[in-house]
Amino acid sequence: MAYEKRELLLISGVLLFMIGLLGAGLPLIYSVIIAVAIYVGIKVYVGKRKHVLAKQLGQGICADCGSKIEGGKCPNCGTN
Ligand SMILES: [Zn+2]
Repeated sequence: MAYEKRELLLISGVLLFMIGLLGAGLPLIYSVIIAVAIYVGIKVYVGKRKHVLAKQLGQGICADCGSKIEGGKCPNCGTN
């Protein structure tokens, strides 16, 4: 649930940025490419950070919500 909220926030942020670029006079295709590049970049960055966090914490605590991992899975958000 918390993850989905962040995902929506990220998407709306990128969309707003794209609209800003369009407003600044950038052609649509470039605005879309830049917006997608930023989105992918953030996803990769967050994924790497999560991986590092998960490594540091081992199997103890969920990197997303901080809940205790049970049986290799987070009981809160279903990720490991
Ligand atoms: Zn969790």
